[in-house]
Amino acid sequence: MKTVGKDKRIWYPFTQMAEFENDDSSVGIPTIVAADGVYLIDEKGNRYIDGVSSLWVNLHGHNHPKINSAIEAQLRKFAHSTLLGLKSEPALKLSKKLSKILPKELTRIFYSDNGSTAVEVALKACYQYWHNLDKKTKRKKFVAFENAYHGDTLGAVSVGGVELFHSIYRDLLFDVLRAPSPYCYRCKFEMTPKSCGMKCLTEFKRLVSENAEKIAAVILEPLVQCAGGIIVHPKGFLKRVKEVCDEHKIPLILDEVAVGFGRTGTMFAFEQEGIVPDVLCLAKGITGGYLPLAVTIFKESVYESFIGEYEKTFFHGHTYTGNALSCAAALANLEIFDEEKSLKKLPPKIKRLTTLLERFKELEIVGDVRQCGFIAGVELVKNKTTKEPFKLSERIGHRVIRRARKYGVIMRPLGNILVFFPPLVIAEEQIELLLDAAFRSTKEVQDELKTHLR
Ligand SMILES: *Cc1c(COP(=O)(O)O)cnc(C)c1O
Repeated sequence: MKTVGKDKRIWYPFTQMAEFENDDSSVGIPTIVAADGVYLIDEKGNRYIDGVSSLWVNLHGHNHPKINSAIEAQLRKFAHSTLLGLKSEPALKLSKKLSKILPKELTRIFYSDNGSTAVEVALKACYQYWHNLDKKTKRKKFVAFENAYHGDTLGAVSVGGVELFHSIYRDLLFDVLRAPSPYCYRCKFEMTPKSCGMKCLTEFKRLVSENAEKIAAVILEPLVQCAGGIIVHPKGFLKRVKEVCDEHKIPLILDEVAVGFGRTGTMFAFEQEGIVPDVLCLAKGITGGYLPLAVTIFKESVYESFIGEYEKTFFHGHTYTGNALSCAAALANLEIFDEEKSLKKLPPKIKRLTTLLERFKELEIVGDVRQCGFIAGVELVKNKTTKEPFKLSERIGHRVIRRARKYGVIMRPLGNILVFFPPLVIAEEQIELLLDAAFRSTKEVQDELKTHLR
């Protein structure tokens, strides 16, 4: 068993393999063989706090008895049947449960199997929506924001705006209208949130009104652009984006693949600004971190345009669409929210996270600390005064998280940004362990940089 981690055949995602296979940190790259609650356990028996919820998916802990038995029970019935031409009990039960936690305007649920497909479905459906209404429509463009991340398939990459991940593919992508992102720490208008009057929003408004007749939809990750760098939006931004969309009758697609299911403190992020999107994408947390599943949910008005002649059909579907085991896991996952009162238990944990993040601000290499509910990011900088960033090739975030492993926590940075994205179920003492480990590791890297300079 000790040798399983030594096999080198896997090409890992978002990973520079030259670096990965030569990891010389004290613990190396753990090979996970078991998990329990918020802990991941490696082949040497080390236990690590899962500080990023196994990439933003786990909510109620690993090996949760209720989700385990829901999957087992479903397995004894059947594992998968297609939704192409057949109905499926677990998919029907889940859509009923989802409709209970969603605003009543969001009536139609389209299943797929990951966040990128949920976004592709939203984009293609909105594009076809206008075509179904009028074959001569000129509404063929999408508005997306800078620093947006909506997944890795080509449609999702087209609306994406993260230079490092997306620029290489530019020639393959469709054109989008790009609106500024409210990244206040690095405001492109060099203004401050106190006095800017949301200049970025004015730009968005201008972009939309100048191109209104050409726009099929606007896509946004609400409240916090997670993979874009935990960019927390100012209060009211989302509400005003929705107002602009409504003014021009443009559907707003919200990508809540990461922020949905309690991460921001409410079940869905949009609830906090009192709006309802026209299209909603959900994935990651939907099965509590157990199995791949996604949904794209539509208002009746979008769905209606597809009803009628055969040519108006939405010709889209993935083979494992609405997988029965995934749906059973998702249903159990949503029931746990009720049974364990997961959302009610969050506010003190969010507060504890805020308090523990405070210390980071004293560090010389910390430029900004951002938090939205139970999601937080710490931006590391070379120069605190000028905000000069570390070069990505310096791998600063990576150096910190490698050290954090030694202190028993697993993290995954986004370039120069340390990310905190723990399972909702994490206890306050465990939040403290996580933040302490991250703080010590950051301080050590800072000290190391100083010695290096001397
Ligand atoms: C992760 C993510 C996606 C893509 O989801 P996958 O399941 O990795 O395809 C899309 N949008 C957002 C906001 C995400 O965080």
